[in-house]
Amino acid sequence: MAFILHGIAVSGGIAIGRAHLIAPAALEVAHYLVPLEHIEAEVHRFDDAVATVVNELYSVESELPADSPPEFAALLELHRLILQDPLLSEEPQNLIRERRYNAEWALTQQLQAAVAQFEEIEDEYIAARRADVAQVVERVLKVLTGTAGDLGLSSPGDDVVIIAHDIAPADMMQFKKRVFGGFATDLGGATSHTAIVARSLDIPAVVGVGNAARLIQQDELVIIDGDAGVIIAEPSAIILEEYRHKRRHLELQRDRLKRLRYMPARTLDDAPIELHANIELPSDCAMAVEVGATGVGLYRTEFLFMNRSGQLPDEEEQYLAYRSVIDAMGGAPVTIRTLDVGADKSLDGEAPVDSGNPALGLRAIRYCLSEPQMFLTQLRAILRASAHGATRLLLPMLAHVQEIDQTHALLDQARAQLVARKQAFDPAMPVGGMIEIPAAALSLSSFVKRLDFLSIGTNDLIQYTLAIDRTDNAVAHLYDPLHPAVLHLVAHTISVGHRANLPVAVCGEMAGDARLTRLLLGLGLREFSMHPAQMLSVKQEVLLSDLTHCQAVAKKVLASGEPQRIRALVAGLARGTTST
Ligand code: PEP
Ligand code: MG
Repeated sequence: MAFILHGIAVSGGIAIGRAHLIAPAALEVAHYLVPLEHIEAEVHRFDDAVATVVNELYSVESELPADSPPEFAALLELHRLILQDPLLSEEPQNLIRERRYNAEWALTQQLQAAVAQFEEIEDEYIAARRADVAQVVERVLKVLTGTAGDLGLSSPGDDVVIIAHDIAPADMMQFKKRVFGGFATDLGGATSHTAIVARSLDIPAVVGVGNAARLIQQDELVIIDGDAGVIIAEPSAIILEEYRHKRRHLELQRDRLKRLRYMPARTLDDAPIELHANIELPSDCAMAVEVGATGVGLYRTEFLFMNRSGQLPDEEEQYLAYRSVIDAMGGAPVTIRTLDVGADKSLDGEAPVDSGNPALGLRAIRYCLSEPQMFLTQLRAILRASAHGATRLLLPMLAHVQEIDQTHALLDQARAQLVARKQAFDPAMPVGGMIEIPAAALSLSSFVKRLDFLSIGTNDLIQYTLAIDRTDNAVAHLYDPLHPAVLHLVAHTISVGHRANLPVAVCGEMAGDARLTRLLLGLGLREFSMHPAQMLSVKQEVLLSDLTHCQAVAKKVLASGEPQRIRALVAGLARGTTST
């Protein structure tokens, strides 16, 4: 009989296939006491197994294709470091010698100690790395028990789905040739390395299912719905047909979208549109390049500053991070936003300054200007990175033009310091401002005189216009991108910016919502910045849009103050059914 299991959706798509179960070696290890005369041989057996896995990790790394996402190599290195930690590489030797445990037993004993150590760490990211420790140990156990080296698949293919308690990233590398339809694991969360690798491999995947490896039988027919985070075992004929249909539909859609990757984003009436990526970490560039982003429109640098126990990144570390983004984008423009902490983004779990209302407190540019030395360090790092490729500096949360003037003064200081140090930078690096506070949108004429470009942060613009805390569930239903006030501010910013000959982008979530693409085009937007995963569907909308039509409908939208009418017009515009 069919049954459904729920987990965390980490990689979209639908896989239908026979289950192949990968048994966790840790659950099956033998426990026995080694005879005294065999102790040293047992220690050698253990050392050999560790060395085999270390070599294996090196060799997987050396065989990584040049275009592999950088996190693959980082993961392999992390696993090597874990394995070479004395807790795992030396303590088991002591257990073999002192307690006569067999190698497998000694290792699993240490696994528990290592995992317990990680569990004590409060940092969510580091605590999640205990899964990596378990995966490394699992690999050594498989060598010790002679089950390593293959995933036990005699006839791999798209019609096989992997069900496992957990899958090591190094094993995931073997999935690169896409011989499996998809996979589901009992363990793992959205930040687990397995999930990270799965996402970049583009295999339908669900993790954190809990009991899949226990409830699903070998060769049972399974559907993995990587969009809904659901697995269905032994589906009925009707469910199966429905999912086959859905899969065909999705495959067609994805294939069609992928073909758009290198196609220039131009509307039907041939207007060029820039589609840029929002990134949080340098490693996000791989996906941005993959989907054909023509630049980075928003690099949220604050992620480099978080969870560091008060130890902020120094100039060199920042410079290297910013430069790696510029290098990865291969000459496409990179927009680096200065530190935007405060409100829901705190450095170490604390708001920079205790505040009753952090969204209205000392955040973003306000915080930076109150910490001039820290800000100067970031400005120098960004300036130095600008010597390596087209770089733009973006200031968040501007409300007062003095904030721009003060930043320009600090930039002059930073440039003078670099000149004194004989360090290179782009003297003409453009400086832009985020328009995300209504006050800035409504007094733009003085802002545009001081800036080289504008970027509309609709996430905050909506928050501050509608007086809705964007993190508060209780008012989430009132968060409305189509509120007439929001649309007027967006339209006004685009038109004033363009009249002053400044490029204007939208980098808030509105830019990545394909249902709003035509409306934004109609409002005059020519530069969109969004999460790379959204880019191809937005590009598809751009390619099918006729600007004259979009402009005519957008005009009607702005003229109407009625929410229902606005919604109907925008939905019709997106579907291509609204006439002008
Ligand atoms: C925004 O506010 O729209 C924006 C892009 O910035 P963030 O989401 O990082 O606040
Ligand atoms: Mg913002």
